[in-house]
Amino acid sequence: MAWDFSTEPEFQEQLDWMREFVREEVWPIETVFEDLGQEGFERVIAPLKEQVKERGLWAAHLPPDLGGQGFGQVKLGLMHEILGSSVFAPSVFGNAAPDSGNSEVLAMAGTEDQKEQYLYPLLNGDLRSAFSMTEPDNAGSDPTLLETTAVLEGDEWVINGHKWFSSNASVADFLIVMAVTDPEAHKYQRASMLIVPADTPGVTIVRDIATMEHPYEHYGRIGGHSEILYEDVRVPKDALLGARGAGFLIAQQRLGPGRIHHCMRWLGVSRRAFDMLCERALTRYSHGSLLSEKQTVQNWIAESAAQMQAARLMTLQAAWKMDREGASAARQEIALIKFFGAGVMHDVVDRALQVHGSLGYSTDLPLEAMYRFARAARLYDGPDEVHRQSVARQILRGYEAPADGVPSQHVPTRRKAARARFADLLETVTSND
Ligand SMILES: Cc1cc2nc3c(=O)[nH]c(=O)nc-3n(C[C@H](O)[C@H](O)[C@H](O)COP(=O)(O)OP(=O)(O)OC[C@H]3O[C@@H](n4cnc5c(N)ncnc54)[C@H](O)[C@@H]3O)c2cc1C
Repeated sequence: MAWDFSTEPEFQEQLDWMREFVREEVWPIETVFEDLGQEGFERVIAPLKEQVKERGLWAAHLPPDLGGQGFGQVKLGLMHEILGSSVFAPSVFGNAAPDSGNSEVLAMAGTEDQKEQYLYPLLNGDLRSAFSMTEPDNAGSDPTLLETTAVLEGDEWVINGHKWFSSNASVADFLIVMAVTDPEAHKYQRASMLIVPADTPGVTIVRDIATMEHPYEHYGRIGGHSEILYEDVRVPKDALLGARGAGFLIAQQRLGPGRIHHCMRWLGVSRRAFDMLCERALTRYSHGSLLSEKQTVQNWIAESAAQMQAARLMTLQAAWKMDREGASAARQEIALIKFFGAGVMHDVVDRALQVHGSLGYSTDLPLEAMYRFARAARLYDGPDEVHRQSVARQILRGYEAPADGVPSQHVPTRRKAARARFADLLETVTSND
């Protein structure tokens, strides 16, 4: 009977170090990031990255032969829970999205040449990447509706299409583009991934879209989401990443672990917001008592603690299943945590913001930024509704409608059957009356 919720002492020590390091070294950077600018930020985090490398925690999502640690998903999950408390921490640990996911794809599906040209420089921080799949007019929640095409002409792929929300594309050196290469194939085998250097003629980064996270248009920032036109973009035949027609398969393999890491990072956000909620409840006095003595606030604390605990256990269980049985076996668990975890983060941050009143709404606290961040989590990597639909479909496969249309728990029907079954006994009992 193996049923163990404990963490190995050596790894717990690493986690304790990370927690302290992120709080002491990374959190302070948040308050001066705008003054530092991207270049200053890179300078400030350079020595921190070295410390992370010395601790053997750099790019831990990759196998050891690629400079990573080969941690399984449970360990990675526990690590991401800590890194999630600051948007800057993943950069310090060599696993910031989308480069981390893209490096996994390159490690998994790239040729040796592609690894040389893109993966190793990406891991060294010499290159930046973006993943370009979503289209404004068609393929979002349902990527099988992709309309961007890549046609093989001689030794070159010619790409045409319109994408948006390609995160980091305006600062990327190369883009991993999903395009239809085999229009007549089965809907899950029509698309392939291609590596496109960002300066290839025909690639136009139209803009970085202003969003709830960054409401003012600002071109060329890390964390921006770009709209891109691909117009007769020509790349060599060997720009294909993985097998032709394997685009969705590879995307699925990339997204599974990525969702676990997202969910654990969201717990890091939730925990930080929750700590603020509790601190404020014990500080603010209103209508005759501290907020901590109001039942509504107590309900928020208890509800948040229960939700975070549930999300944490669900996410770690999904990670554990993925480690043991692989990403496809854990599909249902991953879909469950994707929408559940995003909802928990949203609720906890919302309550923490509410308990702080106007202070929570102000930029004097990080809660309003967390709230905007939390809202996006219910959309990217598949909106809530799609994951709910996927979970429900998988669950329903284990059921069937009763042949006679009568609910299997229908009491009169069951009573009739039970009366027939226990007729002798019932006869004896009633005759004794
Ligand atoms: C912050 C952020 C970063 C992103 N980064 C990237 C990136 O790097 N690369 C990239 O390619 N994309 C990226 N995206 C895009 C993201 O993957 C899409 O937004 C997502 O897949 C949803 O697609 P859509 O926005 O086109 O919504 P639509 O497909 O238009 O869906 C709109 C809504 O319809 C509803 N809906 C859809 N399907 C169903 C269903 N089956 N049942 C019930 N309701 C349904 C949902 O409520 C959904 O929110 C990013 C998005 C955000 C917000």
